[in-house]
Amino acid sequence: QNKLAVVTAIQVSTQSENDDFVLEDVPHLTNFLPDLPSYPNPLMKSQAYSIVKKNFVSPEDVVAQNVVIQKESPRGVHFRRAGPREKIYFEPEEVRACIVTCGGLCPGINTVIREIVCGLNIMYGVQDILGIEGGYKGFYSKNTLMLTPKVVNYIHKCGGTFLRTSRGGHDTHKIVDNIEDRGINQVYIIGGDGTHKGASLIYEEVKRRGLQVAVAGIPKTIDNDIAVIDKSFGFDTAVEEAQRAIDAAHVEVESVENGVGIVKLMGRYSGFIAMYATLASRDVDCCLIPESPFYLEGRGGLFEFIEDRLKENGHLVIVVAEGAGQEYVAAEGHAAGKKDASGNKLLLDVGPWLSDKIKNHFTMFRKMTVNMKYIDPTYMIRAIPSNASDNIYCTLLAHGAVHGTMAGYTGFTIGPVNSKHAYIPIARVTERQKTVWLSDRMWARLLASTNQPSFVASDQ
Ligand code: ATP
Ligand code: MG
Repeated sequence: QNKLAVVTAIQVSTQSENDDFVLEDVPHLTNFLPDLPSYPNPLMKSQAYSIVKKNFVSPEDVVAQNVVIQKESPRGVHFRRAGPREKIYFEPEEVRACIVTCGGLCPGINTVIREIVCGLNIMYGVQDILGIEGGYKGFYSKNTLMLTPKVVNYIHKCGGTFLRTSRGGHDTHKIVDNIEDRGINQVYIIGGDGTHKGASLIYEEVKRRGLQVAVAGIPKTIDNDIAVIDKSFGFDTAVEEAQRAIDAAHVEVESVENGVGIVKLMGRYSGFIAMYATLASRDVDCCLIPESPFYLEGRGGLFEFIEDRLKENGHLVIVVAEGAGQEYVAAEGHAAGKKDASGNKLLLDVGPWLSDKIKNHFTMFRKMTVNMKYIDPTYMIRAIPSNASDNIYCTLLAHGAVHGTMAGYTGFTIGPVNSKHAYIPIARVTERQKTVWLSDRMWARLLASTNQPSFVASDQ
């Protein structure tokens, strides 16, 4: 009875407005989370974690979404702070956990898988952990494999996902039937926005059926476009690897006359990778992202800028995010509207389009020959293992998710909010995408760094 009460309390709180409670409401939250989890956290007895005894996170600890409080809106959204709780909800021997990975590849997925397995096993003594192969459809169309610390020991050294992945194939009922049939009571779902929409449906269905199953998401998006969280794992690795492509383009164009290098980077709707890679490199002359419309011809246009830079330096490098300039490519009759298996709109390829446009313009209208060097490093970046800082970050995410589910939280995703890891109701991260704000300081820093045209009038 106690157990049921905990899940109910948690479900009510993740569903209700109390997830967005204001500072004055903090005492109110304790009504939803009294000391119902009844088992002592085994970390208390662990030698390695004995120091954690003093550091158990109180259920009342919260993380504020906004650190800068404006005068007229002194309160804001808060989330429960992630971390081990003194009392846990699941008895470790009763846990049957599963892990699934969905969507595109991103550096660090294997580290997250490894650390969920090792975190569950080493910190909590959980033995029964299943890997669901091949994404959501793996729940009902594939076999599972047993995951132990030994099995996953080296996987963080490899790119990709040890569990394989897929798009499409989300069938909530079949998935939850399978969860029930297999006696799974903790579900860890690693994936992007689409995956989290699916995770939300699983959580709702689990709740509808009254199952004692905790559902946790771990946000994966190489584009860094997941709302609320500071940054997604794999992003730093991607920015770092993008430097190699930018360096190569720079070397190429520096070595020839009128060299124009174009590097296409990931970023379907959000230009974070392109923006950060540009800021990091200092060899980029112009960065084009989906959020910032640009134009080619006329005063202040891209062609004029290219010509000026070629006259000044003899070469230039452009970084273009894959989602930039889609409307121009589509306007020229390239077929738009196709979708992938998950229902995501397939983008038109802006890289070759832009290369051709620039080449044609200078040859036909300016009687100049440009030496075009086009590089698309997308798959090389997605496929590499995560770097050191992402490895640490993946570990924090995985352990945070494990502590949360072991404490009985459900329907949440994990991530740093203002640098403190927090449990965020899934709906919060799926309701909108994070994009680069052109009025934000970071974009201003980029414009100051490249000295490129902003392509917008100051009154816009
Ligand atoms: P990324 O875009 O970073 O590659 P993603 O998680 O957004 O990752 P998708 O291919 O969009 O990748 O989705 C992954 C899984 O989530 C697929 O199995 C898909 O069926 C499922 N999914 C996507 N959108 C939804 C939705 N609205 N409802 C239920 N399931 C969804
Ligand atoms: Mg997506």
